[in-house]
Amino acid sequence: MGVTPTHLSSSQRCHTHPPIFYCSDEKHQGKTVVLVLQGGRWLLQGHDVQVVSTHYNTRAASRMIAGQLGMALSADPTPPLTPGTVVLHHYDFNREADVQQAVTNLLARVKDGQLHVLLDEALFSSSTEYGPRNTSLVARLAESVPGLHLWAAGVYHTDIPPSLRPEPLTVPLRYAPSVLREVQPAVDKATGQVHNYSDSGVPAPGDGLRVIRLSHHGNAHRGRWPVECQQCGKEVAAKLRRLGVGSGGSSLPNSPTPLSYRDVFIITRSSELQDDIKDAAGQVTSRASGVVRGLGDEGLPVCVLGEQDWRHNRARVERDVHDVAVAATDRVTVTHYDYVQGLERRVVVMVPGWDKETDEGRSDEMIDLRDRLFAVSRCTTQLIMVDVPPVTTATSTAT
Ligand SMILES: [Zn+2]
Repeated sequence: MGVTPTHLSSSQRCHTHPPIFYCSDEKHQGKTVVLVLQGGRWLLQGHDVQVVSTHYNTRAASRMIAGQLGMALSADPTPPLTPGTVVLHHYDFNREADVQQAVTNLLARVKDGQLHVLLDEALFSSSTEYGPRNTSLVARLAESVPGLHLWAAGVYHTDIPPSLRPEPLTVPLRYAPSVLREVQPAVDKATGQVHNYSDSGVPAPGDGLRVIRLSHHGNAHRGRWPVECQQCGKEVAAKLRRLGVGSGGSSLPNSPTPLSYRDVFIITRSSELQDDIKDAAGQVTSRASGVVRGLGDEGLPVCVLGEQDWRHNRARVERDVHDVAVAATDRVTVTHYDYVQGLERRVVVMVPGWDKETDEGRSDEMIDLRDRLFAVSRCTTQLIMVDVPPVTTATSTAT
């Protein structure tokens, strides 16, 4: 944590452009913390802070930032006489009309020529429909507001809009070394899009906890991927129980804090993850994924955030994403990685799966690397990996 002020002060010296703080995508823990610190600084100076979410996969991070800013303000023992307020904006930049709406709403918030904006998980890549619209938003604000202060994070350094100034954060702030080693291969392979880590200069307190490995292999296991497999769900649940999750205690070494269900993310990239899908009469029309059923068999309270859930009950998923962002309910979150970008948990279980829209033509190695970048990097303390046996003709035709 001691490294962040350096980055903050160096960005603040630049006043000719709206400073952009960025770090190189999902692997870099700590970037959201930096946005919270910067937002807190603005609030104490009396400025209102606009936290802007332009896509559903930024909802959780934005909600968390707004929540933490609100808490920081109320907890300050010596608050300023007139602190600013936090305003949370939700848009869907898959719709062009929302860009104009965002510009209009944000310009209405300009005070004394100044506007303070935080944008987490700000993808500007033209490989998505909404990336160029993020670029357009930033450009239009930069043109219209001379006193624009805009900090964005979670940006690929190959896609930064020209009006913004990059400020890379490459120091891993909270990883245990054992977790970092799991992410590192993906960083090495993704050179060109993501920066490599630098040395924090601060010795890690220890190597961290040994990564726990389960295997989607054996008679009771079904399906090509663990996300389809009820037995994997049961074994994950049993392992979490042995760690003390939900028992009021913790068996994590050197950790007196009990592990709650809310401390756990079970993350997949599978587009097939879902809870029971029900019709208007409450009848189940499509059963939950195998892993979800297995967790339920073992009595774990879960919140499932999958693409199918989003398609069938968007209001429920939006509500639960907000809930997860502030850890409001004591449940294990079983989720596609899109919904928890920018969040972290002490315990992360990586459940490999297949995304039918993006993984076609990708090698198993590439899928594994993306899992490490997007999911393993959510973990601060105890990582659990479910390993998948290599594909053979026999298993692929059997599923
Ligand atoms: Zn399995």
